Amino acid sequence: MPATAPKPVLLELLRCPEPHHAPLSFDRETNALTCSECAKVFRVEDGIPVMLLDGAGDQD
Ligand SMILES: [Zn+2]
Repeated sequence: MPATAPKPVLLELLRCPEPHHAPLSFDRETNALTCSECAKVFRVEDGIPVMLLDGAGDQD
């Protein structure tokens, strides 16, 4: 079985990588996650969300 495709429910649990960590909403039509706080859009490729930020400065 494929191990690379997270179920949609997992996409719903993802949070924005920005410091506010706001919930993301998954849009099936655009196949992308949108942050409810900063409106950043993260593409989902082959079921894998691309959570990259420009100039990544993650302090975690
Ligand atoms: Zn955000």
